[in-house]
This record gives sequence, C-alpha cells and structure tokens, in this order.
Amino acid sequence: MKLKTDEDYKESLKKLNRKIFIMGEQVQDVTSNMITIPHVNCAAMTYSLGNIPEYEDLLYATSHLTGEKISRFTHIHQSREDLVKKIKMMRLLGQKTGACFQRCVGFDGLNAVYSVTYEIDKKYNTYYHERFKNYLKFVQNENLMITGAMTDAKGDRSLRPIQQKDKDLFLHIVEKKKGGIVVRGAKLHQTGAANSHEILVMPTLAMREDEKDFALSFAIPSDTKGVKFIFGRQVNDSRRIEGCQIDMGSPYGAVGGECMIVFEDVFVPEERVFLAGEYEFTGTLVERFASAHRSNYGACKVGLADVLIGATALVAEYLNIDKVSHVKDKLSEMVHLNETLHASSLVCAYEGIKTPSGAYIVNPLYANVTKLNVTRYLYEIVRLSHEIAGGFVATLPSEKDLYSEGTGSDIRKYLTAKDGIPAENRIKVGRLIENLTGPTSLIEAMHGAGSPQAQKIMIQKLGDIEEKKKLAKEIAGIK
Ligand code: SF4
Ligand code: FE
Repeated sequence: MKLKTDEDYKESLKKLNRKIFIMGEQVQDVTSNMITIPHVNCAAMTYSLGNIPEYEDLLYATSHLTGEKISRFTHIHQSREDLVKKIKMMRLLGQKTGACFQRCVGFDGLNAVYSVTYEIDKKYNTYYHERFKNYLKFVQNENLMITGAMTDAKGDRSLRPIQQKDKDLFLHIVEKKKGGIVVRGAKLHQTGAANSHEILVMPTLAMREDEKDFALSFAIPSDTKGVKFIFGRQVNDSRRIEGCQIDMGSPYGAVGGECMIVFEDVFVPEERVFLAGEYEFTGTLVERFASAHRSNYGACKVGLADVLIGATALVAEYLNIDKVSHVKDKLSEMVHLNETLHASSLVCAYEGIKTPSGAYIVNPLYANVTKLNVTRYLYEIVRLSHEIAGGFVATLPSEKDLYSEGTGSDIRKYLTAKDGIPAENRIKVGRLIENLTGPTSLIEAMHGAGSPQAQKIMIQKLGDIEEKKKLAKEIAGIK
C-alpha cells in the first residue's frame, strides 16, 4: 500500500494534473483551495483513521488477490463478515467527520464491476474479469481513491439514450480504435470527484440491444486528456473563502463536493475497458452498485446523525432544558429512528449473497428498504433536532461580529443561557447543527444512491406480493 497516511493522500493529489473549474476559475491544487479543503480533509480521514489501533480491523482488510494488507475501500467483500465490517466502518467515519467521506462510491463500483465482469466472461469467453483483477491489484497496491461515475446527464427523461437529440447526454463510444475506445458524454453529481485519483465509469440504466455503444464500463486516471471537472456549489461555501471557521460549522464540509465530469473524446485503452456492448449485463451492474450504495445510507448517515443527536443534546444542556421530559423523549425518539436505520443496514450485510465470482453482495431488498427509510427517518431526526435546538440555529450573527469590538460583547451577553457555559460553545454547536441539517445534506439523503421512487420500483420487483397472496389464501382456506 503506497499511500499510508492522510498526508500521503494529500501529496498524491498535488501531483495530479487535472482540469478542475470552480466558480469560473481553473484550480490546480485542491489541497490548498479554500472551497475544496473540507472535502479533501474529510476523504483524508479514510486514510488516517485505520492507523489508530482500535480502528485498524475496520479500515483495513487482506486482499484476496495478493494476500497483502489493503484499505477496506479497495477490498472485494469475501464474506458476510466483510459486508458487516464495511457498514460499521462507515458509521464510524460518519461519526468522526459528520459529513460525506466520499470514498464509498468507488468502493461500491469496484465491487459491482468485479462480480459482473466474472459473469460476462463466463457467458462470452471475454477477458474483462482478468483485466479488472489487474486493475484492482494496481488500485489496492497504490491505495487509490476512486470516484464511481454512474449518473449520466440523461436529457429528456421520456426518451431512451438512442432517442436523445444530443447523443452525448448519455456517455457513449464515439470511435473504436486499435488498442482502445474513444468516449464522449458527461457524468453528473460525482461525489469526491475533485479529490479522487481515478474515475470508474458505469452505465446509468439497463441498456437495450440497440444501445450497445452506451453499455460501457471503464476506468481512467482522473488527469486523462479530455476530462474536465466542474465543481458544484455547496451551501455556505463562500464562508470557506471568507475564512470563517466557526461559521463553516465543521472542517469537513457536509456533502461530497460533487462535480460534473465532462468527457471530451477521451481515449480509454483496452486494458481499462471492463464492459463494452454487453448490454444484457448493464441492468445487473446498475442494481448491484445501487444496492451496495443504498445499504450504506444506514451507516454513513447514521454516523452523521449520531453527531447531530449529540449536538442537539448539547444545546439542550446549554439551554438548561435537558431534564425536561419532552426533550428527553424527543432525544430518545431520535436515537430510536437512527438505530432502526442502522439495524436495517446491518441486515443487508447479514443477509448478503455470494455471487458466482465468490464475492459477496448485500441483500438488494433490504438495501432498498434501508435507503427508503433514510429518506423519511433522517428528515424526522432533523425536524426533532430543529425543534429542540431552536431558531437561533438559523439566525446567528457571523463570527466576524462575534470577534468584533463593537458587537462581540453584545453577542456574548445575549447568547449566554446556562450560567458557566460560554456563548461561543452555543454558537459553535448551533453552526454544527446548521451544517449537518442544511438543505444539501437532506437533499443528498433523499436523492443520493437514487431517488425514493427508484427504491419503490425495486421493492415492488423484489417484494414478492404473489407469495404473500398465497400465504393469505392458505390461512383463509381459499382454493
Ligand atoms: Fe459514502 Fe455516504 Fe458519502 Fe455515499 S453519501 S459516498 S455512502 S459517505
Ligand atoms: Fe451519497
């Protein structure tokens, strides 16, 4: 494993020569840019946390390909125990960062592509799986961060990829050359894209026979010629430029520093192509990736909600309302909802399934149930937090006023509640709650890993209502 610490990770990012655009300017170094620093810090935690002995077992694994110690983020799950460790690792990282640590998208992409390439080769005698294993060894040895690029631009939602007026709205092959392919299109909302070493591309949806050029999976270094990143705005990102540490609420941002990635006639060498034209496998690939990522949300978001529950309880303490019965009741309701989400996520792992490749995947029905619950319970947890914490979370003056001569003493005097607790503490925890519960975090919980309707479609498909009807008929004595 070449990159062993957070510092190694940051140094490696500096060496990438990429085209990243932020607010109209091209940015060279994401480790020193005020806008991107929080996301880099957050992802860096995936490199540093395992070096604390008590977390080593969760953050590291043994490669089934080389027998070497590797980051769990580059591991292919070999058992249900591996799936469980992944869920526990994600909750831990959510607790330590209170934000999206971004590295799971590529992790889930690696696992999905691994099992599916095995199945393609079995059917067509192709060599995708061997290629992918070579790529995986490289990723494991270097300990790289991968951004998993799945979401195409999609254009007119009522039209198939082939029917779009502008074909580039779905990433596709524009030319087959000796030794590789040339691709064009874009992937949107890519979590962690600005601070990943590699891009792993997957199809957005199950392609049809006439959409072979859109049935595509490959990986390229993020500084490949023709790749452009356009960084998305994050709520309150201007506070980062202003250097307002308290107003930022957290040094780790909130969501995953999403980017639009544009592929302008990018050449992908043959050894990096893992699916090209085998459209029948695109549905399986999408489902396996989506299930893996949906099961994560009962882990990373639960870790984040652990921080939120703690922050809410702290505000209650600072206001001296922590012994009030309805406040205690609301806090235990928040814990109840949060642990329900986590239990759901653990079930995805404990009911994991072995694929023909030997790799394990999560139970897809429970994964979709978990994610759908997150879109409801997390909102309720946030509602309860806002109710307890109070309106000050939304109306706090800037830290520049807190530290300014003309206003600082007023802010301290009038924002002090319980005797002995400095107003700064209340402000800091208020800003943390604002950051954890802002619209980007909630929208991410709603639409990240797919929108609720996508989960409902999968639940309809996997829920086996016919079998349940049989159960009812049998007990009711209906022939
Ligand atoms: Fe990982 Fe959660 Fe962020 Fe997805 S939303 S990349 S699972 S931390
Ligand atoms: Fe996400």
